[in-house]
Amino acid sequence: MKVLKFGGSSVGSPEIILEVKKIVENQQEQCIVVVSAFKGITDQLIRLSTLAAQRDGLYTTELTEIEKRHCDVIDMVLQHDEKEVVKAKVKNMITDLHDILHGVYLLKELSLRSQDYILSFGERLSAIVISKVINNAEFIDSREIIRTDNNFSYAHVNFKITNELIKKRFEGFDKICVLPGFIASSENDETTTLGRGGSDYTAAIVAAALNVKQLEIWTDVSGFMTADPRKVDKAYPIKHLTYAEAMELSHFGAKVIYTPTIQPVYKKNIPVIVKNTYSPEDEGTTISDQPDKDAPSLIKGISSIDEINLITLQGAGMVGVMGTSMRLFGSLAKHKVNIILITQASSEYSITFAVNPKDSEIAVKAINEEFQSEIEFQNVLNIRIEKHLSIIAIVGEKMKNTPGISANLFRSLGQNGINIVAIAQGSSELNISVVVEKASLQKSLNAIHEGFFLSRLKELHLFIAGIGTVGGNLIKQIINQQEHLQKEHQLKINVSGITRSKKMIFNKDGLDLANYKEILEKEGQKADINEYIKQIVSYNLRNSVFVDCTADEKIAGTYKELLNSYVSVVTANKIACSSEYKNYKELKETAKKKGVKFIFETNVGAGLPIINTMNDLIKSGDQIIAMEAVLSGTLNFIFNILSAEIPLSKAIKLAKEKGYSEPDPRIDLSGTDVVRKLLILARESGYKIESKDVQIYPFLPADCFEGTIEEFWKKVEKYDDEFEANRQKLEKENKKWRFVASFDRGKAKIALVTVNQEHPAYYLEGSNNIIILTTERYKELPMVIKGY
Ligand code: ADP
Ligand code: ASP
Ligand code: MG
Repeated sequence: MKVLKFGGSSVGSPEIILEVKKIVENQQEQCIVVVSAFKGITDQLIRLSTLAAQRDGLYTTELTEIEKRHCDVIDMVLQHDEKEVVKAKVKNMITDLHDILHGVYLLKELSLRSQDYILSFGERLSAIVISKVINNAEFIDSREIIRTDNNFSYAHVNFKITNELIKKRFEGFDKICVLPGFIASSENDETTTLGRGGSDYTAAIVAAALNVKQLEIWTDVSGFMTADPRKVDKAYPIKHLTYAEAMELSHFGAKVIYTPTIQPVYKKNIPVIVKNTYSPEDEGTTISDQPDKDAPSLIKGISSIDEINLITLQGAGMVGVMGTSMRLFGSLAKHKVNIILITQASSEYSITFAVNPKDSEIAVKAINEEFQSEIEFQNVLNIRIEKHLSIIAIVGEKMKNTPGISANLFRSLGQNGINIVAIAQGSSELNISVVVEKASLQKSLNAIHEGFFLSRLKELHLFIAGIGTVGGNLIKQIINQQEHLQKEHQLKINVSGITRSKKMIFNKDGLDLANYKEILEKEGQKADINEYIKQIVSYNLRNSVFVDCTADEKIAGTYKELLNSYVSVVTANKIACSSEYKNYKELKETAKKKGVKFIFETNVGAGLPIINTMNDLIKSGDQIIAMEAVLSGTLNFIFNILSAEIPLSKAIKLAKEKGYSEPDPRIDLSGTDVVRKLLILARESGYKIESKDVQIYPFLPADCFEGTIEEFWKKVEKYDDEFEANRQKLEKENKKWRFVASFDRGKAKIALVTVNQEHPAYYLEGSNNIIILTTERYKELPMVIKGY
């Protein structure tokens, strides 16, 4: 024999009810079917009874809706001759319900006792309909066989009587039985309920009493998942759980099974299978006493309680005083306050515990009464309450004696800037719980989930600023490399935001990169860099990276806020790192403190691996003594194409036409750009240096840099002849001009110098860059990095 329980989500519509029929009728053995109320009906019954108690006549409208919903289902799923009989039953019950609600309306009073009775209609209506849909099935009222105390809304089962009643009722019973879940009756035959979600429990009680072979919980997901799928979209079904693990997960909020459900079946060692009515062929989750040795992860699942309050009793009055905890928890128990988690520091200065917010006030009152003397008169204790918090629990039997689990948990949270308010671990080592701010709950769950279950696939959320040459090519690269990165490096890149000067657009799950320009144009909102940053911060996504592909000073000014908000910054924009040393240093320190990245490799030498190489040398104990570098592609291009036919002025014009130079080429000619790069290199080598410390030896007189660009073109022509004469002289001597930035033991300068064939920069084609590093290790023969 088997017990099959179908939840509200599996009896919500005519289509799915027909699935239930199929599943039950295909069973090879006799089964007992436990059903919940149709999806949403229990909530609706609570709503309408509250309306009635408030003397709001609207409850009758809702009641009519409930009637209609059941009759519609009957019309769709039953044969003609049965329809009217069942509908008449439903109508009779609705009339009863109406009478009770009318009573509530008149009395303006809704006791838990009446509410339980009202709620029982949900499951009873459902079970009556389903018992008619399934062939050879019979309805049995659970109130006949489950006996409880009269703790209405959350009644406790009297197993001794209940087990007897169940056994007796099913003796010789050979049909399919359909039972309403959730409801029971007290010793004086009043209707009680087993707590919200209690139909699972009904099924377990019956399964245990009859010692059946298996209990199946049919719902709308394919099993117990690694996390709540509504909060973590990467959650996936767990193949196997032990009873203890399932209990722990459901205790900490995994709604898929009502917590008390496991207890009775655990005692009888009856396996529980969680299956999906919408996808019956899926394997689902098996819960048994067998630990899963092949489980792929060190933990089994993550669950959370969304809203709790933390209450702390603290003060000198606790240190070394015996019996404080006993008095504290005794007083809370007396007031029926349920405690979800407790922590106490070994200093004994404080005890912190978590409660449901609805119990918070009463808990504080209880403590105040118990410790009145210490709090009010002696002033040695006080109470602190913290609100808007959530608890997250990671659960798994494999955690026992396995070091590194908490480290992984704290790393996942820490790296994403999530502050842990409190921590607790039971000595069973089955569960580690952390308290975090409610606002970070979803991010925390996803970060932990990634840390434990998806360590094979890491997701980055990129927010790009600028889609010109650099940004545009970056996106192209991402498109081309996406598959490779995912397959070979387990890295998934989502471009979650793009902004350009006029428009910006977001999509947390990743924009469609194939058409990003079109989407940005059509659906983008007006760009505003402050709004862009605000949105990134408020998304609060794990592994967020801001990528600056602009040369904009304003954007460079946003890095600090981003880093402080645990967003990594990767930038091609040189402004921040070449601004005041203080600012550069502060950004690097902030990134370090917050555990995020601040990367600017492309600031110097574009795609050449210069900064990373220097960093690695230094990390491994080397020291940079001096460097010489040709860092301006524009200037290198100009001095490379100078010839009898191409004078200086023409060479500059060509550099501009080919897009090498800035629109105003004087920015390149003056060396401003090279100064910035040199500053960054010197700083990365460990030197504290400002731009005023760089000596500049311009190769054009000062007046060329004054006035408009048109005036410049005229002025520069005047120097064509002089340059050509010098060039010819150099050619004869086998020498070349190079615009070199150099740095030697703290002294930085940039100048146009001549180099002979022995110099590594002599053969530097087109707009190539070169850097020559002299370090402690590379002293005799410097290291050369050269390329396009
Ligand atoms: P039923 O109506 O079948 O009783 P419930 O709504 O009570 O279904 O429980 C199933 C729901 O529980 C799922 O739809 C899912 O949203 C939620 N849930 C929360 N945590 C988990 C989890 N760890 N695994 C699976 N489902 C979960
Ligand atoms: N119908 C009840 C509820 O919504 C019981 C259940 O569905 O398990 O809480
Ligand atoms: Mg449920």
